[in-house]
Amino acid sequence: MSKRVLITGAAGFLGSHLCDRFIKEGFDVVGIDNLITGDLANIEHLFKLEQFDFYNHDVTKFVHVPGKLDYILHFASPASPIDYLKIPIQTLKVGSLGTHNLLGLAKEKNARILIASTSEVYGDPLVHPQTEDYYGNVNTIGPRGVYDEAKRFQESITMAYHRFHGLQTRIVRIFNTYGPRMRLNDGRVIPAFIGQALRGEDLTVFGDGSQTRSFCYVDDQVEGIYRLLMSDYALPVNIGNPDEITIGDFAEEIIKLTGTNQKVVYKDLPVDDPMQRKPDISKAKEILNWEATTSRQEGMKKTYDYFKGLSQEQLYKSEH
Ligand code: NAD
Ligand code: UDP
Repeated sequence: MSKRVLITGAAGFLGSHLCDRFIKEGFDVVGIDNLITGDLANIEHLFKLEQFDFYNHDVTKFVHVPGKLDYILHFASPASPIDYLKIPIQTLKVGSLGTHNLLGLAKEKNARILIASTSEVYGDPLVHPQTEDYYGNVNTIGPRGVYDEAKRFQESITMAYHRFHGLQTRIVRIFNTYGPRMRLNDGRVIPAFIGQALRGEDLTVFGDGSQTRSFCYVDDQVEGIYRLLMSDYALPVNIGNPDEITIGDFAEEIIKLTGTNQKVVYKDLPVDDPMQRKPDISKAKEILNWEATTSRQEGMKKTYDYFKGLSQEQLYKSEH
């Protein structure tokens, strides 16, 4: 009998790629999403499969899934700064109440649960690169606090279920991940820059562009998550690509990649925007024998090809 996995946030960027991966591995997959930042188009190719079920449901409300579950992956949550600034209360609720519901479901079904945490638990980090034992530097009451603190609570309640109820839990701290199916207008830097290049607009660099990020291609991220779920390691693990770049240099790379004639314009740096971010992935290497294998050049080419294939209507649609 096939193993059965529940994936929340299934219609989102990472959730939809995880659905594809688990289907490919022969699992029965149940997706849940309330479509607040996701899009059914990301999973419409799965609807014809018998192996796939989908519920349109808000996981902050009681979650009921008939039948057995072997694994749960909790990925529902707004993930882009402009999304979680626009829907701050829902962001807090899905990380806290939503996680509580899914831990309860995991306990009920005797399922192993993996929760999607984030490099944002390190806030604007004072330790570089970030190791899992760094406690972080988060502004609780700042605008980004709604996301960061929800994710920190999520980690705490997950460890409490592990320690108190003996639940099998896994925590992945995801560092900036990109690839096909990101929303063009979700405000994150990669869709933002590519969208601007495709529309013939100048590229908006926030601040002076000296802040850094380290971008991981989605296939590498999914591989790391899969290995972590199958491991027996319950403490948090960083999954990301340590290849660090300043946002200013990255804008120049996009200009080259897209061949646009546009230039860079500078805008205010958002409040509490972390100045540096790079994962220390020693743990992932040691425990999961995992490291990212896709170069930024290769991953960005695939991502650009995806965005180039979108319609004019999609290119100019803006919710923000
Ligand atoms: P996304 O916005 O594309 O996907 C999130 C999905 O969750 C969406 O489909 C949305 O509709 C759904 N959702 C939100 N609230 C919900 C609710 N209450 N009930 C049901 N569904 C709900 O974002 P993503 O980039 O795919 O991120 C997925 C997860 O990974 C998030 O938990 C995010 O915090 C985490 N993460 C992502 C990154 C990254 O770089 N992509 C980095 C760190 C952490
Ligand atoms: N950024 C930028 N221009 C944009 C969008 C983002 O310069 O149009 C910057 C943003 O200020 C941050 C970095 O790019 O320093 C990454 O932003 P993103 O929203 O992708 O992710 P996060 O801040 O969560 O890492």
